[in-house]
Amino acid sequence: MSERQYYVGRFAPSPSGDLHFGSLVAALGSYLQARANHGQWLVRIEDIDPPREVPGSANRILKQLEHYGLLWDGPVVYQSQRHDLYLSALHQLKQQGLCYYCICPRQRIQQIGGHYDGYCRTLNRGADNAALRLRQTSPIFSFYDQLRGEIHTDPALASEDFIIHRRDGLFAYNLAVVVDDHQQGITEIVRGADLIEPTVHQLTLYRQFGYTPPSYVHLPLVLNTFGDKLSKQNHAPPLPDGDPRQILIQALAFLCQPLPECWRDLSLTMLLTWAIAHWSLSSVPSKAIIPAPKITSAFSKG
Ligand SMILES: [Zn+2]
Repeated sequence: MSERQYYVGRFAPSPSGDLHFGSLVAALGSYLQARANHGQWLVRIEDIDPPREVPGSANRILKQLEHYGLLWDGPVVYQSQRHDLYLSALHQLKQQGLCYYCICPRQRIQQIGGHYDGYCRTLNRGADNAALRLRQTSPIFSFYDQLRGEIHTDPALASEDFIIHRRDGLFAYNLAVVVDDHQQGITEIVRGADLIEPTVHQLTLYRQFGYTPPSYVHLPLVLNTFGDKLSKQNHAPPLPDGDPRQILIQALAFLCQPLPECWRDLSLTMLLTWAIAHWSLSSVPSKAIIPAPKITSAFSKG
């Protein structure tokens, strides 16, 4: 039996606001890829950064997923309930001498070009008001993306001693995401192209922990009319609550998937079943060539 005969995918939003069309594209892409591979699709709420979170948005996101028919397997996992796992991962790296405390202010790192230079590596700083950085011994500079092929990242970024525990006491995204994806048995990560850069750091952690890394697919980003990624920060409109099928059709079109001729005759479940049966990862464009649909105006009532 081959190691990859089973498939486990996931969608892992941070609860910093409602889902918008860009996050729906990422959710739908990972859902279809998992279901087309007869796999499981898990949902994890990445609530490890309370200052950036919006109260109630985790529940709203889950309701939105249900409304759009994207039903997940098993219980939803919350990162806020998994601090023990992250602490034991940090402990392992400390035991191996693979991290050190750093008190360098952000301004100093900006002045030297934005990438940390390992200044505190040999200074034996204390934990007080310090970030914890991974001591890079064998950085990873590139990785294979199932959609884009070999991706090389900026060597200065790839080899940087990156932060695994923040100065403000919060766990770093890269640490939590690797610990969780491994612990949840994720075999493939399908997510937006805005997360290409940190992938090499995540792969470095996989190597340090001795975990088998997943495969990766980075979907094209939905851009607004200014060419910026749709995001909660730039006030992307939330997904509408009405008929989900029309928006799903737009998301499928964005991913360059075949569309059923008369989607209005299909129920939501039938539409998704059709989309799973016709899912083609190789048809997904690697760049966002289509302008984002105007969700609010394109959405007709009734
Ligand atoms: Zn430092």
